[in-house]
Amino acid sequence: MLDHQYQLPSNHFLKITLNSYQVMKSFIQLEKNSCEAGGILVGRVLDESNNFIIDDVSSPMPTDHRRRNHFYRHPNGHQDFFDKKWGESKNTCFYLGEWHTHPEPSPYPSHIDFQTWRRLLKFPTQNISVLFFIILGTSQMKIWQGTNNNGAIRIELVAASKIDA
Ligand SMILES: [Zn+2]
Repeated sequence: MLDHQYQLPSNHFLKITLNSYQVMKSFIQLEKNSCEAGGILVGRVLDESNNFIIDDVSSPMPTDHRRRNHFYRHPNGHQDFFDKKWGESKNTCFYLGEWHTHPEPSPYPSHIDFQTWRRLLKFPTQNISVLFFIILGTSQMKIWQGTNNNGAIRIELVAASKIDA
């Protein structure tokens, strides 16, 4: 199976490596009592094309707050994950956003999700103005793109795809 690739409104592409996809997919909430899961997206922005590649995603850490309808990602562990990838990439990878799961077939962001995303866009920690937010429902995965253009924050849905069995 190939990497997952999505065309963005800017006509650039977002690619998700198969490994990253499979890690996220392994947490979809198919059981009645499974809790939300999530982590960070780590990858590259290709200079020549301005395409984005999500190379790695972190998995839930013991200090994250996980409930049936709630996921709060604590920095613990995810920061170590990023630091490790940062070293492996010789300081060339980026934090590209967040992913989490929802216990519904087609996921819709909660009020808290939007608040969290807006906050992340408002206080960028690196020199890129785009972040991605992925939610995996039980049958659909959706991707939002968030941008901060000199303080003007915009979040738009850029892809929705069926999660393959
Ligand atoms: Zn959510």
